[in-house]
Amino acid sequence: MNPAFIFSGYEGLISGLMNQPERIYLSPPHLDGDEIELVKEALDSNWIAPAGPQIEEFEKELAAYHQVQHAIALNSGTAALHLALILAGIKPGDLVLCSTFTFIASANPIKYLGAQPVFIDAESESWGMCPSALQNALESYQHIGIKPKAVIVANVYGQPANLPRIKELCEHWDVILIEDNAEALGAELGNRPSGAFGIFSVLSFNGNKLVTSSGGGALLINDSEHAEKALLLATQAKEPGLGYTHRHLGFNYRISNILAALGRAQFAKLKHRIMLRRDLFSQYQQQLSDLPIKFMPEPSWARSTRWLTCLTLSPDCRVSPQEICEGMEQENIECRPAWKPLHRQPLYRDAEYFGGMVAEDLFHRGLCLPSGSDMAEAERNRVVTTFRSLIH
Ligand SMILES: *Cc1c(COP(=O)(O)O)cnc(C)c1O
Repeated sequence: MNPAFIFSGYEGLISGLMNQPERIYLSPPHLDGDEIELVKEALDSNWIAPAGPQIEEFEKELAAYHQVQHAIALNSGTAALHLALILAGIKPGDLVLCSTFTFIASANPIKYLGAQPVFIDAESESWGMCPSALQNALESYQHIGIKPKAVIVANVYGQPANLPRIKELCEHWDVILIEDNAEALGAELGNRPSGAFGIFSVLSFNGNKLVTSSGGGALLINDSEHAEKALLLATQAKEPGLGYTHRHLGFNYRISNILAALGRAQFAKLKHRIMLRRDLFSQYQQQLSDLPIKFMPEPSWARSTRWLTCLTLSPDCRVSPQEICEGMEQENIECRPAWKPLHRQPLYRDAEYFGGMVAEDLFHRGLCLPSGSDMAEAERNRVVTTFRSLIH
């Protein structure tokens, strides 16, 4: 019935043969059986196509939740970012300012378009983009007569960046704000969900995200013309009418009806899944409170989903996050160091950077613990015990 269950049963068999405890994943999909109903409905309706009623419903639900006019469901978050940048009018050579402390997918679409990423440091309060480093970048470019076209701000590990402040800066400097909310679906700032602040906002339903359709994403837009254009570009830019007429360079970026059904079933559980992840975070916090570590802070103005439980080792710890991850791996537990800043990636060696050492420091001391929303107590205890044994 539950594919994840069958899969983990098989894993158990293999690890049993190898005399290893069962693997604990960083953020595995959490299925509870309700998915099968909606996927069956999609199959029964015979809409086995990249179109269909499940997509329309999914889009309505996503738009309503985020209080935006339009949601366009796509086959990945990366595709959504790519379309956002095209709609923002990004051309070869343009400058796009981007969070440095994030997954590489936040920045790669800048390069797809031949534009130049400029990376901005994180702040320690939210681990999101530092507003003063952003301001500094905008001012510095103005001094030399260059106008950056867009800002991509990533909300990392379930937590919104200081979006009100960043939005204000973008409005003041007339730069298009793109919100990469791939990791923070369901997070809130006051009464507003994250994903509601960008001119364009991006969601991801990849396998390890809080809500998954196995693969998928969405682009959130208020402007109707932009939304129409996004839909056109996502469907090979086929102009309306019988003949295949193409004026624009399009892509095959639409989600399938089957995956939209899976996404809908998962999205319906969003609140519950956030509660489970936040609970797990507090339990780790309680069980590890005596160690020389600091859990990821939550700023007063935001409510994180705690998609991943993240922490930093205190500077006097004699082990590195890398060594801890390796030690956990020995016990078949998947952990991950915090994001390596993008301006430190070989791919982006030549990119400009504004800021100090916040992202770098998070990378050198930060790590993520297994954070699945259906983790059993015994599994959590195994993580806690192993982690403890590695800290010195
Ligand atoms: C997962 C992720 C993406 C990309 O989403 P996909 O659906 O995997 O293409 C983009 N940005 C961030 C910050 C992510 O974590």
